Amino acid sequence: MNDPAKKENRPNLRTGEIMQLVQKEVDNHYKSELVSSLKNSGGRAVFGNTTILLAKEFGFCYGVERAIDLAYAAAKVFAGKRIFILGEIIHNPDVNKQINALGIRRLPEKNGEPDLSALAADDAVILPAFGATASVVAALEEIGCPIVNTTCGDVMSVWKRVRQNARDSFTSVIHGKAGHEETRATASRATGNPDENPSHYLVVKDLQETAAVCDYIVSGGDPAAFLKKFHGAYSEGFHPDSHLKKIGIANQTTMLRDETAAVQNLLRDAIARRDGGDPANFRFFDTICGATQDRQNALREMLSAKPDLVLIVGGYNSSNTTHLVEIASASAPTFFIRDHTRILSKNEIRHFDLAEKKEIVSSRWLPEKEKITIGITAGASCPNNLIEDVIRTTLSFLESDTPLSPLKK
Ligand code: SF4
Repeated sequence: MNDPAKKENRPNLRTGEIMQLVQKEVDNHYKSELVSSLKNSGGRAVFGNTTILLAKEFGFCYGVERAIDLAYAAAKVFAGKRIFILGEIIHNPDVNKQINALGIRRLPEKNGEPDLSALAADDAVILPAFGATASVVAALEEIGCPIVNTTCGDVMSVWKRVRQNARDSFTSVIHGKAGHEETRATASRATGNPDENPSHYLVVKDLQETAAVCDYIVSGGDPAAFLKKFHGAYSEGFHPDSHLKKIGIANQTTMLRDETAAVQNLLRDAIARRDGGDPANFRFFDTICGATQDRQNALREMLSAKPDLVLIVGGYNSSNTTHLVEIASASAPTFFIRDHTRILSKNEIRHFDLAEKKEIVSSRWLPEKEKITIGITAGASCPNNLIEDVIRTTLSFLESDTPLSPLKK
């Protein structure tokens, strides 16, 4: 039965009146006429000797737009109260700065978990687009705070799948990053009811880890070594001898589609090999979200035009953006930048190196050619105004005498 008290604590902020107020502000902060014009003109524009290619799908996805709208709405509806957010609303530092400027504070953390000790029933709390763990949500409900839930529907679809796995006593093998907020939230729903029907999860981040799980499924091994290798990536009480008998695959919504498909195939084959060809103890649900897929496809299409280099704009901790960088790097020199300030000069660019996990400065990033084609895209958490700044700054370092019109500001 629904608890009416709890329902009251999830106010509906998406009313026409509130959203009208919010829209103006959101547009003002994140919109770009120039980027819209470029998109509408097919994503290709020539400025003197420079051609800019913009991927057909880029930037804010529907889930991020909704999360931002709700955070702006919360700032209006709960004006005068303390408003907190669990972690970052999305993985973009500029957006997070704007949210902070609305008076929304990030809840402090203790041992990697949100510290709820200072919250009172009167404080509003925003759950980010990636969701929050089941235990944190339960604790917030217990305190009685109004909860503004911005969790994306695509993330909640994954939760539905792992809950189903738990009900059917399948261990959820989650392709994702064990420390990522979304995967932690998903994993917390994969354990079923610990008293009545406990279930388990294991997170695999890549094909190398998947291969180790497959080996164990087919040939067994040393459980202690297995648990050490996957430390921090499995549920309490998980044992590889008991909990890899029936597995259901799910994934963080923003993973690389091809890698997720390979993870599924490898694990299905391993189960079938162990079980005499019978895959009944294996199930999978493709839970890569549409927005991630569209951005990856559009980037591949853009790369087929063979740009001389690619700029990927977005937060460095953004999973979907990181995967765009991986895709682009395989085809062209690629620079992952959080905003235009990283373009230091015609000769130098400061960009994030995925292997080093830090920003580095590269010189001679622009090829010495008479005509240059630059591909640009951005992750699902990157607003258009940041893309515009990147285009303008890039062109400012090139000897283009063609103004940005007809792409007007
Ligand atoms: S990237 Fe996908 S799952 Fe994440 S917020 Fe956007 S639509 Fe939702």
